[in-house]
Amino acid sequence: MGHIPENIIDDILNRVDIVEVISDYIPLKRAGRNFRALCPFHHEKSPSFMVSPDRQIYHCFGCGAGGNVFGFLIQYERLEFREAVEALAKKAGVAIPQQFRRDSPEAGVVSALHAVNELAAKFYENILGSPKGTAAREYLFTRGLTEDSIRSFRIGFAADAWNALITHLRNKNISLAVLEKAGLILSREGGGGYYDRFRNRIIIPVFDIKSKIIAFGARVMPGTGDRNPAKYVNSPETPVYVKRNCLYGLHLAKDAIRDLDFVIVVEGYLDFIIPCQHGVRNIVASSGTSLTQEQARIIKRFTHNVVVVYDGDSAGQMAAVRSLDIFVEEGMQVKVASLPEGYDPDSFVREKGIEAFKILISRAATLFDYKLAILESRFSSRSIEDKARISSEMLGTIGKFSNSILKSEYLKKLGDSLGIDVDSLHAELKKIKGDRPYAEVQPVPAKARAVNPTEQLLMKLMLEESSLVDGIRRRIEPSDFQDERISRIVTALFDFLDHGREVEPSILINHFGDTEIAGLICESAFTHDTEQGNKKEIVDDCIRRLKSKKKDSRKRFLHEEIKNAQKSGNEEKLHQLMREFHALIKEGVV
Ligand SMILES: [Zn+2]
Repeated sequence: MGHIPENIIDDILNRVDIVEVISDYIPLKRAGRNFRALCPFHHEKSPSFMVSPDRQIYHCFGCGAGGNVFGFLIQYERLEFREAVEALAKKAGVAIPQQFRRDSPEAGVVSALHAVNELAAKFYENILGSPKGTAAREYLFTRGLTEDSIRSFRIGFAADAWNALITHLRNKNISLAVLEKAGLILSREGGGGYYDRFRNRIIIPVFDIKSKIIAFGARVMPGTGDRNPAKYVNSPETPVYVKRNCLYGLHLAKDAIRDLDFVIVVEGYLDFIIPCQHGVRNIVASSGTSLTQEQARIIKRFTHNVVVVYDGDSAGQMAAVRSLDIFVEEGMQVKVASLPEGYDPDSFVREKGIEAFKILISRAATLFDYKLAILESRFSSRSIEDKARISSEMLGTIGKFSNSILKSEYLKKLGDSLGIDVDSLHAELKKIKGDRPYAEVQPVPAKARAVNPTEQLLMKLMLEESSLVDGIRRRIEPSDFQDERISRIVTALFDFLDHGREVEPSILINHFGDTEIAGLICESAFTHDTEQGNKKEIVDDCIRRLKSKKKDSRKRFLHEEIKNAQKSGNEEKLHQLMREFHALIKEGVV
């Protein structure tokens, strides 16, 4: 799979209308040449979100969000760039050639596996509804599942037979190769044919985000523990099922997660199904105790706030807690709700009720407090060695914060609770391998980073009137812009013109894949209205100011250098600097 070529992306941009696309999500009202709406990306009472049909971009004067139609889908639907391109290609009727499609080599396999999983799920569902499934149904009811849940989660049953599924699907002309690839059957040792992977188990289909069945979890029936010791048997990894990417229930939960702006993460299928059945919609199951970075990144597309629910007596508790650092690394907020000893979310909701569960969630502790509490109960002697162990575990988490303020506040808190002085914690933190530099400053959002209005205006004029560019280019270079972002935009703009490409802001934005630059381009397009003035005069004025500013900073620089040369007594250098300084003063402003 390669990158989708720019000409295809440009083609899609030319064919879709941003006003039409955004109207599918929020109501737009005409305002002169533009459209206006309440911003979907921040809370506001009067609309400051603008969409320009002429330039095919949007910009919010309230929060600084801005971009082209891809940017809107990325921001609103939390898509990856490629996914946004694919979605709009479909809408625009632009075909993305096979070799650039994500699933190109496996496209046939992928749909074959989805289809065979679907058939298998149907088969297991039917068995659960038949007399052979009676015991399994009874068991599911005792576990608190309703008929509705069984139907909507498409729960089934695999009979106690070696080849029920094989026979059924072979009769439908499904090849053994596909069944094996889907992980539904296994080959006998010594080459004596195949047998069903799932036997005498309750079958729980696993869906991807688009509601396609990609795998199965199979739970043992009670009372057969001696024959099948594993509580769960799951599908192996297949071309459609990559365990580390998988979050059970996300296809149902994604809208609620975005609306409520937080997600509850539980471990098992039933831990998900029971709360969900009681109306908790923003919940997913990790299907494992350790969360993966991929899972964290998928969640991040919908919310930055995570509450992980752990059983009070979770085995390998510390390992599970350590895995939560990945959320911190992704810049997300993570809290932990701990169930009383002996409960899992499923049994807790059934016995204590859904309100008690919601209260437990609302009282979740921060990762810091939770981890510290576990460590303090484990190393309780308060000996120097224990303190060192606790602090080294805690520093592992604190080191993952990229926000310096959080980092320093947590260090203080840790120092206070262990009675250790903060400076030595600082020193230890610096030693931790892979720690981000302590002084690192969080990137400031586009809105907060001021831009020089002269530079922005000049850039805007070039973006709007390509006829002005040649004249401007003869007089200044991209490096004459002090703002590194503008300098990059201008460089790209010159490059576009050199290659005979259009310089539409919406097209230029794709070139960067950087939300800050997109925001800046869009902000410029919507501000500094130059309709009235004489553009050539405005250009002259901007260039004059830029040059004079550049000269001022060069003068300041020379001034410093001259002082240094005087101090160090470097006569030759001093002479040379003085010459440059005087030349600069004599030279008139352009
Ligand atoms: Zn906004």
